[in-house]
Amino acid sequence: MTKLQERDKKIIWHPYTQEKTENLPIAIKKGAGSYLYDEDGRAYLDLISSWWVNIHGHAHPEIAKTIYEQACSLDHVLFAGCTHEPAVQLCENLAELLPLNLSRFFFSDNGSTCVEIALKMAYQYWRNQGQNERSLFLTFDGGYHGDTVGAMSVGANSGFHDVFRPLFFKILSIPYPETYIGDNEVEQKERKSLEILEKYLNEFGKKIAALIVEPLIQGARGMRMCRAEFLRAFVEKVRAHGILVVFDEVMTGFGRTGSNFAFEQAGVIPDFLCLSKGLTGGFLPLALTVTTETIYKGFSSDRWETAFAHGHSYTANPIACAAANASVSILKRTSTQCAIGVIHNAQKAGVASLCKLGANIAHPRVLGTIAAFDVQEASFSSKSFRYRLLQEGLLLRPLGRTVYVLPPYSTTAEELHTAYEKIGSILGA
Ligand SMILES: *Cc1c(COP(=O)(O)O)cnc(C)c1O
Repeated sequence: MTKLQERDKKIIWHPYTQEKTENLPIAIKKGAGSYLYDEDGRAYLDLISSWWVNIHGHAHPEIAKTIYEQACSLDHVLFAGCTHEPAVQLCENLAELLPLNLSRFFFSDNGSTCVEIALKMAYQYWRNQGQNERSLFLTFDGGYHGDTVGAMSVGANSGFHDVFRPLFFKILSIPYPETYIGDNEVEQKERKSLEILEKYLNEFGKKIAALIVEPLIQGARGMRMCRAEFLRAFVEKVRAHGILVVFDEVMTGFGRTGSNFAFEQAGVIPDFLCLSKGLTGGFLPLALTVTTETIYKGFSSDRWETAFAHGHSYTANPIACAAANASVSILKRTSTQCAIGVIHNAQKAGVASLCKLGANIAHPRVLGTIAAFDVQEASFSSKSFRYRLLQEGLLLRPLGRTVYVLPPYSTTAEELHTAYEKIGSILGA
């Protein structure tokens, strides 16, 4: 145990951690590009993008410099009754990447809060329209939307929040037709989901406020992918009943799935788009709930009661907005877009090489820069696997039996190739 680990052990309570049985945390001292370095200078390739937030690599000099300069000129100001350049600039920059209909931007600090905001806006929108009966939310089994109580309610069947179930508001949940390379049953699964949807819509169509979905891929539940055609057909049916559509792109946003946003591949423009994780390139917490002019106008009247009474102390923090501006401009570069394509190909090759090795894996799947597979070995322990990977200089964090690789866009094809060789030899061993 190092000195820092010892001090940590005495005072810190870590997230998503059973403190009694978990190994000591690695004390990370430095980040540079795709690597993290511990106190002894050991390097770890960050194949989890530090919980899916880091897209351009660690300590990116352009983002770091922007943060310093912004902090020297305006640190923070309340965002009710005040505005500032970095916030307006960021929304203008993002508007260039988004369809014209997604034109109103509401700030918050993290994925859970931007989801809460979409849910509350959808709920209040119907009340402002005098449609008080619309109070149910439609979700998918396995959907994960964050850890605050509203976000947990719509993620009730994610498997993460069971102890809190009595606190949740009402949802209707549809089986998720997850698919993978070589899946012969996908159509059958999709048909079943659409049938159950029809049943719910016929019975509750007028009582549902909104659908919330992680488009194309459920992250936390285990990188479970669905087909774009299915999502499009699903949303079409939902919209025929006047129901609003929330796309939670907290993980999928900013190039992660190969396009800037997953909704582009689904061919669906949602009424609400939730963005966070990659927004600042992984430097600072920031989130946006983007919506349409129709929703925005639904809150505009001469009465205070129809306004959206929601805000956070750090809403639209200028330093975070400045970091996001720098990150978005790096994302827009041709070199970054090329890197995303290179990673996609390296991921496909990597997963294929594991399958060829016969490394006892099932359900291989790749979407954009994300690759995943399930380990079949009965004795597989994600904790000891994670430990072996660390010894090999790889930072990953399997979700149960699901191993996934989700690198920053600074990662090279060679680095991924070597990582897959190491993963293969650990799984084969
Ligand atoms: C991580 C995540 C969230 C929650 O974001 P936090 O910043 O951790 O609160 C919400 N939705 C999705 C799809 C996520 O992956």
